[in-house]
Amino acid sequence: MVKIAGLLIAVLVALAPGPASADDLDPELRETFILANTEFTIFHEIGHAAIDQFDLPVLGLEEDAADLIAAMSMIYGHQVEADIRQSELLLMAAEIWIAEWRGEGKYSDNRHAYWDVHSLAIQRFYNIVCLVYGSNPDALPDLLDTEALPAERGFVCDKIYQQARQTMQWVLETYGRDEESRNPGFGIVVEFEEPATQVQRRMKRLLQRSTMVSRLATEISARLDWPEDILLRFARCPGNPDAYYNARVAEVTICYELLEHFEKAITEQGVEMTERVCANPATRRLFGERAGCPEGSETGAAR
Ligand SMILES: [Zn+2]
Repeated sequence: MVKIAGLLIAVLVALAPGPASADDLDPELRETFILANTEFTIFHEIGHAAIDQFDLPVLGLEEDAADLIAAMSMIYGHQVEADIRQSELLLMAAEIWIAEWRGEGKYSDNRHAYWDVHSLAIQRFYNIVCLVYGSNPDALPDLLDTEALPAERGFVCDKIYQQARQTMQWVLETYGRDEESRNPGFGIVVEFEEPATQVQRRMKRLLQRSTMVSRLATEISARLDWPEDILLRFARCPGNPDAYYNARVAEVTICYELLEHFEKAITEQGVEMTERVCANPATRRLFGERAGCPEGSETGAAR
């Protein structure tokens, strides 16, 4: 009996997906998660800046439009249409919304802000996943009808993606930079405020080491015919893990505290996120090796 119990425990341990604790998470994966979410945030806030600077028509809530601009910019930037494995950063940016959704429930008496200008965190998760799937449904047949993308939503993602693509193309054709651009020389100017704490200094070093911010600033500057410079400022915002665009001064602020918040999310929920990657047939197939999913523990539990 003891032997059987021991064998059973050994089998269960072998089948347990992903790392066992936050300390087992690959440090590179943690950094990638912070950078992925920072990238999404930059594009979201730059989306607000573009809506303001070019007076873009917005049908629906501006926050949904900014999310759509962010997701589509990352799909284009990482060439997800050509290679679905490049969707890794986007799916990491989607994951934060599951963490936020749970956090909101936990810290506000289960009362989510249904009245908010932002869609519910959990809807923001599905909106991103839907665009990723819609960008290349043939490459992700096994994502459809899973917990990450119920079939009822999945069936319309192709159309939603094509609409988003058409909108983005219109913006780029109408306000894109070319030989006839009226405002050469204007674009995104990056500034790092002096961090206040050890953790913030680490976040600043991570951003500068990755070169992601300067690369995005160059790309965004070259893509649109900005009528004035937009300051992209990484700043200290004590007690406020946020990011926002200030139209009055044409400034995007991203708080170091928000980056700390991303790190906290991957520390607290990284194991659970990895388990989701391992349990979903599509994400397991694409990222299972990188996420450290054990071999031969195909469960299909997410279906
Ligand atoms: Zn926003």
